[in-house]
Amino acid sequence: MLAVSERFSACLRPADTVARLGGDEFTVLLEDVSDSIEAERVAERITAVLDEPFYLGAGSQGLFVTTSIGIAFGGATEGQSESVLRNADLAMYKAKSKGKSHYEVFESGMDSRALERLEMENGLRQALQREEFRVYYQPSVSLSDGGIVGMEALLRWDRPERGIVPPAEFIPLAEETGLIVPIGQWVLREACCQTREWQERFPGAPSPTVSVNLSAKQFRQPGLAGDVAQILRETGLGAHSLILEITESVMMDDAQSTVATLRSLKLLGVRIAVDDFGTGYSSLSYLKRFPVDFLKIDRSFVDGLGHDTEDQGLVAATIGLAHTLGLETVAEGVETEGQLAYLRKLDCGLAQGHYFQRPAPAGEISEVLQARLSACPDR
Ligand code: C2E
Ligand code: MG
Ligand code: MG
Repeated sequence: MLAVSERFSACLRPADTVARLGGDEFTVLLEDVSDSIEAERVAERITAVLDEPFYLGAGSQGLFVTTSIGIAFGGATEGQSESVLRNADLAMYKAKSKGKSHYEVFESGMDSRALERLEMENGLRQALQREEFRVYYQPSVSLSDGGIVGMEALLRWDRPERGIVPPAEFIPLAEETGLIVPIGQWVLREACCQTREWQERFPGAPSPTVSVNLSAKQFRQPGLAGDVAQILRETGLGAHSLILEITESVMMDDAQSTVATLRSLKLLGVRIAVDDFGTGYSSLSYLKRFPVDFLKIDRSFVDGLGHDTEDQGLVAATIGLAHTLGLETVAEGVETEGQLAYLRKLDCGLAQGHYFQRPAPAGEISEVLQARLSACPDR
């Protein structure tokens, strides 16, 4: 930090002030600038001097830093200094999101929602490297005998100073920025590795499978089947133990190419689940052509079982359709005994939901598996 501030001094005028706000953030106060161009020139000079490598100590390798600069203007009247700092911060986050060594001038459109988004994007970019992602697991249970047959891997982000963030809050942005591809690969590797460990640790029990959700962008990634094959090889998990979940709407989006992608995945031996079934617009002729194995009945339909005749009719029809096509059914979001009884009556094969187990970290799930094994050792 000392070396950085020394370089600052070299490109500022004597009347300008440099302050370190904490961490890796500095504030530069330029008094007396006539226009934006003058401030931008200073930003360019700062970026240029900080782009040169730092040599800390004799014989050390050069260290590189990247600089993101936000520029904001304001007067000297009371109360304005906070807003100038906040605006500069917003502009800085925007600069950061553009990648290496950029500067941005504050514009009035950069409001607090934009700031939240930019902060989240920057956080997401670093989260993998900082090991902030966690995989939670939720068992799926066979309705015929109550045994655990598999787990669904559900991503969480343990965000510094905010705690566990659910996927609905950050996956859309990860999807938009393309970050979902490396994040999704990490989830897949982590989930396969954990499942392999469970299979080795509890060899007497039926081998649990693992279901991993794939987003639209991941599913449309050209090398998907190759990546999946490599992760299976690296982790030693059998292909038959892996189920990939793709939502109905993603599958139907480009049904033609979906068929080709699904075929390449099926060649590996992995199985496919249609997630959130009933919420999209499935074409029955495509559903027939898709080489899928499971239909996951969306929670919004399971919710109404026992009191909403329309939902009951739709769930019964979905299970009937699945049976006709030779697919297994998984009911999502089962919360009550009543829903469970209804699903049994309709001959639904599998279910998951809070009624059985909330999604939990691998350690907790290991205890559940251990307890089950101790309760009935031959399962
Ligand atoms: P999903 O795949 O349909 O997962 C089921 C969601 O329902 C999970 O929410 C789960 O925690 C929740 N759930 C399970 N049982 C119950 C219940 O009894 N009641 C209620 N109210 N909810 C229940 P979660 O974990 O917040 O995940 C939301 C969605 O985020 C997932 O929906 C999936 O689409 C997506 N997602 C999660 N992990 C990943 C991932 O690794 N990659 C991608 N691309 N998407 C993921
Ligand atoms: Mg799912
Ligand atoms: Mg679902």
